[in-house]
Amino acid sequence: MTFPVTRLRRLRRTAALRNMVAETRLTPDAFVYPMFVCPGEGVRKEVRSMPGVFNLSVDEAVKEAREVHSLGVPSVILFGLPDKKDEVATGAWAEDGIVQQAARAMKQEIRGLVLMGDVCLCEYMSHGHCGIVKATPLAKSLGAAVIDTLHSAPTIAVRNLAEKEKAIEKVAAQVAESAKRVDFEIVNDASLELLAKTSVSLAKAGIDIIAPSDMMDGRVAAIRNALDEAGLINTPILSYAAKFASGFYGPFREAADSAPQFGDRRSYQMDGANIREAMREIEADVEEGADMIMVKPALPYLDVIAAARERFDLPLAAYQVSGEYAMIEGAARNGWIERERVMMESLLSIRRAGASIILTYYAKDAARVLA
Ligand SMILES: [Zn+2]
Repeated sequence: MTFPVTRLRRLRRTAALRNMVAETRLTPDAFVYPMFVCPGEGVRKEVRSMPGVFNLSVDEAVKEAREVHSLGVPSVILFGLPDKKDEVATGAWAEDGIVQQAARAMKQEIRGLVLMGDVCLCEYMSHGHCGIVKATPLAKSLGAAVIDTLHSAPTIAVRNLAEKEKAIEKVAAQVAESAKRVDFEIVNDASLELLAKTSVSLAKAGIDIIAPSDMMDGRVAAIRNALDEAGLINTPILSYAAKFASGFYGPFREAADSAPQFGDRRSYQMDGANIREAMREIEADVEEGADMIMVKPALPYLDVIAAARERFDLPLAAYQVSGEYAMIEGAARNGWIERERVMMESLLSIRRAGASIILTYYAKDAARVLA
């Protein structure tokens, strides 16, 4: 049937009709609220690039989590800002680590709240990478350093002997710098042990769901083994299965103080160009024992969410990341978009793409709208 028999506008005439035929619905029980726990007491420090999101000390985090739960949001995911960082991420797996403290307090104070624990090392490593870093001096001969320097250095014009000597000194310094350059590698297998240790420690502290976000190969199996060996057979794993190296993480790095001190994360997080590889990443995590899978970020990767929904039968989560939040907040604060409308539309699009669980900084505000 076509027009005039078919008129699609018939079912759009009133709000009641539109609501009746809505194919996708948002409910607060789909949301998970991310929280950043920091040392101290009574601390409530707003993240500059994420207005409305705070670094909270344990006491304040408990209050916030109670509010989140009372709005019908069933779960929070915890990130930690330790007071000290080192080369083995002690703060991630220590019994009195900041997330462990928060988990114990929340477990005791808020009945029924599902606690997710992000498992990664970047917030706790002095270098800010998600795994153990091995530094290797580049075995470069002095001759190769001279050639590299001369190839990349601009021609220097000299007018007298003094300037000539200065130019030689400058080039010599560049050659020396080039000869002692160090190559960094994020060591996969050695990092697994720390990730597994962190997972066990978090689960023992009361974290209900372990959520590894590091993107090392084999981490889900390593974590599953360690949990089982510790008798934590009922602790599920939500793997950040397809996590892309993304510019949208910018504000989070301020919130969690986790920016890498050198290099970037492209050697372990995924290339945004690849959807088939994303399916392989998810498949690997499923085979290793993941109970739930996640795609991150959400909005720029809705097609990946849809493809994952089509192909896998596990519960599927998506993370509406800090940059997605910051874009909406920034534009709304400038009066360029309607905040609430865009907030709900973005969440609806993630749900429509196929994610049944949405990690979002809008969990509280969206739950209020839906109430
Ligand atoms: Zn990390």
